[in-house]
Amino acid sequence: MDTRTASCSCGQLRVELRGEPRGVGVCHCLACQRRTGSVFAALASFAAPYTVSGRATEYVRAGDQGAKFKFRFCPVCGTTVFHTEEGRDNAVSIAVGALADPGFPAPQVSVYNSRRHPWVRLPDTIRAFDKDPP
Ligand SMILES: [Zn+2]
Ligand SMILES: [Zn+2]
Repeated sequence: MDTRTASCSCGQLRVELRGEPRGVGVCHCLACQRRTGSVFAALASFAAPYTVSGRATEYVRAGDQGAKFKFRFCPVCGTTVFHTEEGRDNAVSIAVGALADPGFPAPQVSVYNSRRHPWVRLPDTIRAFDKDPP
C-alpha cells in the first residue's frame, strides 16, 4: 500500500499516512491565512490509521459552525503540519505543503472564496463555496 510522510521543515514532527487522500481542498479563510502565513491553506484529508512521531504544540480553534479543530505545530520550527476535528478520530487533515510533493493530487474544492485574494486563480473545474460547504 502507498505511504506518504508529512514533515515539518526541521524534520522532528512527522505523520505517516496510508492510502490515497479522501479529499483535497484549499481554504481562503482569514484564520487559515494567519495560521499558515500564506494567502490560502491547502489541505488533504486522509483516513485513519496514521502515525505521528515527534513533538507537537496544539492549538484549538472553533470553526464558524462550532466544530473544534485541533491544529498541530512543530514547537521547534513552527511549521503547521496537521489538524484533527474533535469527535472525528477517523481522519486527519494534512497541510499539503508538509508533503513537499509537487506531484500531489490537485484540490477539488475551494472554500471561503469570499476571502480569496483576487489574484489567486484556481482551476475552472474546482467546486467553489463562498464559505464552508453545507
Ligand atoms: Zn520542525
Ligand atoms: Zn480556513
